[in-house]
Amino acid sequence: KKRDGKNGAQIFDNGMLDDSRRRAELESYIESGLSEDWFEAYLQPVVNIDDRSIVGFEALMRLHHPQKGILPPGRIIEVAEETGSIIRIGNRIMEKAIAHFARLSRLDGMQDSYIAINFSPLQFEPDLPVRIAALLSRYDISPRRIVIEITEAVLMDDNPETRMVINEICHYGCRIALDDFGTGYSSLSYINRFPVDIIKIDQSFIRAINDTASDVSARSRMLVESITTLSHKMSCTVIAEGVETEEECATLRTMGIDYGQGYLFHRPQHPDNLMKTLSGPQFD
Ligand code: C2E
Ligand code: CA
Ligand code: CA
Ligand code: CA
Repeated sequence: KKRDGKNGAQIFDNGMLDDSRRRAELESYIESGLSEDWFEAYLQPVVNIDDRSIVGFEALMRLHHPQKGILPPGRIIEVAEETGSIIRIGNRIMEKAIAHFARLSRLDGMQDSYIAINFSPLQFEPDLPVRIAALLSRYDISPRRIVIEITEAVLMDDNPETRMVINEICHYGCRIALDDFGTGYSSLSYINRFPVDIIKIDQSFIRAINDTASDVSARSRMLVESITTLSHKMSCTVIAEGVETEEECATLRTMGIDYGQGYLFHRPQHPDNLMKTLSGPQFD
């Protein structure tokens, strides 16, 4: 966003001023969010794609600003990863997600469900396994019911400490999901090097299976089908992300995908709202 001035000097355009102002604003929201408890873990159900029963939930961060309303995580996470505050935010989200999950899992039919939590690379600090263990014993939840969602960014980091922490969490019994599968490069190699249990196929692939250009849709279908076959051979469960239409759902079912997540089934919701829906008489 820098432009060369007439005599070679750098001048800043308005875009850059706006960017840094916006960034400072987000940093202040993050700090207040932590001290004033504005962060919340919204939950989006994950369903069995055949009968649409709920198999688990993914925790998605939201910041409830008292004046600005509910802010989505995108830019907040970017800034928090740069400043390091993602560690404190992540711990907060994890505590909330597990507390909500403990309530939800007491509902009829939810005894075997899981809670999936997103982790950024910086969050794999040596004390993470102990933090998780303390929360699980406080709420009496089995480690098998916790899914750690990581992206290739975490694995590419290739930090020995990160690797050790992930292995420790696995040995403890938590499961690992590889998020946004297919969007990075050499994704396949990670299934081999890490104890991955779940593959989440990124929504860009799901969108493409019904692309109006028939060559695009044909290739995307082959790709999704191959990822599914391969994942099953590696004993991994496959989740399709961002399922929005019946047409997509039908195609995914023929491909043997296990689970689905998306607006077609359930939107991310405030946990109280979800609790109400799932315990209400209209739901079975
Ligand atoms: P993600 O893990 O890939 O999460 C899925 C995103 O897709 C969520 O966006 C969700 O709201 C959205 N989504 C779900 N179903 C549909 C659908 O049918 N159609 C469409 N168009 N979108 C759908 P969200 O909540 O904005 O999260 C964005 C990203 O932020 C997440 O992507 C995840 O990478 C990150 N994130 C969210 N919460 C946390 C957190 O607590 N910690 C960390 N480190 N990252 C988080
Ligand atoms: Ca995720
Ligand atoms: Ca994802
Ligand atoms: Ca994604």
